[in-house]
Amino acid sequence: MKERLSKTVQSLQPSGIRRFFDLAASMDNVISLGVGEPDFVTSWSVREASILSLERGYTSYTANAGLLELRQELMNYMKKQFGVSYDYQNEILVTVGGSQALDVAMRAIINPGDEIIVVEPNFVSYSPLITLAGGVPVPVETTADTEFKLQPEQIEAVITKQTKALLLCSPNNPTGSSLTKAELEAIADIVIKYDLLVITDEIYAELTYDEPFTSIASIGAMRDRTIIVSGFSKGFAMTGWRLGYICAPVDLLQAMLKIHQYTMMCAPTMAQYGAIEALKNGSHDVEEMRKSYRRRRNYMVKSLNEIQLSCHTPGGAFYVFPSIKKTGLTSEQFAEQLLLEERVAVVPGSVFGLGGEGHVRCSYASSMESLEEAIKRIGRFMQNKL
Ligand code: PMP
Repeated sequence: MKERLSKTVQSLQPSGIRRFFDLAASMDNVISLGVGEPDFVTSWSVREASILSLERGYTSYTANAGLLELRQELMNYMKKQFGVSYDYQNEILVTVGGSQALDVAMRAIINPGDEIIVVEPNFVSYSPLITLAGGVPVPVETTADTEFKLQPEQIEAVITKQTKALLLCSPNNPTGSSLTKAELEAIADIVIKYDLLVITDEIYAELTYDEPFTSIASIGAMRDRTIIVSGFSKGFAMTGWRLGYICAPVDLLQAMLKIHQYTMMCAPTMAQYGAIEALKNGSHDVEEMRKSYRRRRNYMVKSLNEIQLSCHTPGGAFYVFPSIKKTGLTSEQFAEQLLLEERVAVVPGSVFGLGGEGHVRCSYASSMESLEEAIKRIGRFMQNKL
């Protein structure tokens, strides 16, 4: 029989996160700090707008690029929040989550063998999406010493003739690291010097706690070589709606639109109606959620450091990434033993690539009571291990 599966797909490893979720799901009384999604339900007004669209019978496809009104709102939002201007007619594309946005971005720019620099530890989908598009992910390791921030000279060290783009994520999953404007400017200098593109995953842009978010697209001449990938999942607590978007210069955006129209047609219509409401009137709720995450971040950083799990204060997202090195355990052993002995689920850092080993990802998108109980249990676990 002929080989049934593509070589590319066979080369992909299954995500290491799944195994822990399956194990945790089979146990009682588990506190999960494992999930990467908000603990808020989407704002009622957003849900209501979507319900209303269904009541009115708006159940057909939308334009391939997304509802015109949604793209207009996105144009206004990007300008007002982040100071970047995109033409809603041909520089904005509404996608099925940030996930599809990343997929079409990769497929639009990669020729076979093109190299994309990825900053690790990172979101588990990046390298597989690059590989599926025929590219080669080139990892750059960041560590706790630099608070998991990419240093510009690290980019130069891996650049080859095949380097096409740099993939950035700030605030970052899993480290929570958030790059400042000055840090992004230094990265932009290198990107321009070597004529690279940047794909910037800004899905956590709304969730920064110390400094306002800066998009690399807003820096100097970067707009013309930047693809912004973002979505509603995190900042607006809309993971299940599957809605994201891309902002990019017209030539890149139109290439992505071509792929999108053949593979997806359009993002879900009822979700798009909800998103219009989120952008128009959602800022108060987003701000409340941001404040709540900030309180929980401060609690987690302080508490983890007190129980010998040292971590820096991450500037954004809803993750802390403490070092477990004092225990002498690998991150997989730590996560497994913590789950079996104390029923707290965290994600081993090793699943996020280089620089992840020796750390675990703890999401603080859980109630304060759960976090307090989790810290009590992890503290007891640490006493037994040290
Ligand atoms: N990028 C990052 C960094 C993420 O953490 C996630 C979700 N975990 C995504 C993209 C994808 O999000 P979605 O497809 O729900 O928009």
